[in-house]
Amino acid sequence: MEPTVVLRAGRDKSVRRLHPWIFSGGIADVRGHPAPGDTVRVMSAAGECVGQGAYSPESQLRVRMWTNDPEAVVDESFVTHRVIESARRREHLSTISDAVRVVFSEGDGVPGVIADRYGDAVVVQIGSAGAERWRDVVADALLSLEGVACVYERSDIEAREREGLAPRTGLIRGVEQAPESIINERIGGRGFRFAVGFSAGQKTGFYLDQRNARAAIATVAQGRRVLNAFSYTGAFSVIAAASGAAAVTSLDSSGPALAGAIRNAELNAVQVGEQIEGDAFAELRTLRDRARSYDLILLDPPKLAQTEAQVDRASRAYKDLNLLAAKLLAPGGILMTFSCSGGMSPGLFQKVVAGAALDARRALRIIGRLDQPGDHPVPLSFPEAAYLKGLILEAE
Ligand code: SAH
Repeated sequence: MEPTVVLRAGRDKSVRRLHPWIFSGGIADVRGHPAPGDTVRVMSAAGECVGQGAYSPESQLRVRMWTNDPEAVVDESFVTHRVIESARRREHLSTISDAVRVVFSEGDGVPGVIADRYGDAVVVQIGSAGAERWRDVVADALLSLEGVACVYERSDIEAREREGLAPRTGLIRGVEQAPESIINERIGGRGFRFAVGFSAGQKTGFYLDQRNARAAIATVAQGRRVLNAFSYTGAFSVIAAASGAAAVTSLDSSGPALAGAIRNAELNAVQVGEQIEGDAFAELRTLRDRARSYDLILLDPPKLAQTEAQVDRASRAYKDLNLLAAKLLAPGGILMTFSCSGGMSPGLFQKVVAGAALDARRALRIIGRLDQPGDHPVPLSFPEAAYLKGLILEAE
């Protein structure tokens, strides 16, 4: 028989509402011995087929829906079409940047697949058994995109472990070339170039999700003394410097990331400014103890809550960082503060920052909000895809 997953009574409701995830606890029975990544028919307790999804026997997240259409055929052309259509929806972005996320997993109906385009290279991340099953098809589809010369794999994320998949990295399609691209992005009416290393960099190499923040920084940096905490390869620092910042300090715990910032400063003919290599929690304290003061602080920590269960502990860390930043902010200064922890809601993040400002005895006003750009789309039926939030705050 066709591999089939039978849901517990009532568990078909979220599937019918187009939510793409089925957890192991929602499943009453598995029939037909599906292998990892196989497409299974999903059946309600009453025996009605409500769609088809990819089976992940090792993960609590047991099925990721491909489609709610019982008649659809999930095959090579189905997967190819999803990838190509997803890339096509980004075409309008090409006037702004040649670096875009062309596939955003469930956000684009391709669960487990993240694909970031950097010029003529695509870096792909395969994060689920279902995506692994179609890896070659996905790679071929990405290589077929106009102007793409190679596809590089960065499947070295934690999520793979939960799926029982080993990490894997390296060139998988196209011509061997330096594992680096120089990308071009228009920010505030000016062209910027950034070097993206996709074999050694973090995530797939560049924080495409912060495109809105990059534009916001260009509009406010003029004349300000800038502190860029968690600076990675200095994209924010370079933009601030090019936009007339009075001084720029970059702070990161990664030496290679700071070296990347020097390179990026050179590529854009700006001064890299002061660099501090160290733990931000400690270094911000040191700066505060030295009574340093900044007119623009950028605070973009890594994901401090990996899961919803970690949100409480992470809240304290976010508060700590924002408290220090609030103290370092000059009168009239601007703080752009971010959280990319999906488990932390925008409401909770704002509350945590409000608590930090109160403890720092600073009156801060929200003058803007930032979130992930359109190449990281959030289906209305899958709000979990929204993970990045930022507040632009102004001090009295
Ligand atoms: N704003 C950056 C992205 C920041 S990613 C951009 O747009 O490119 C988060 C960065 O935080 C990474 O570069 C990582 O090296 C750094 N990091 C992680 N933990 C840190 C810590 N405790 N102190 C300082 N930096 C840290």
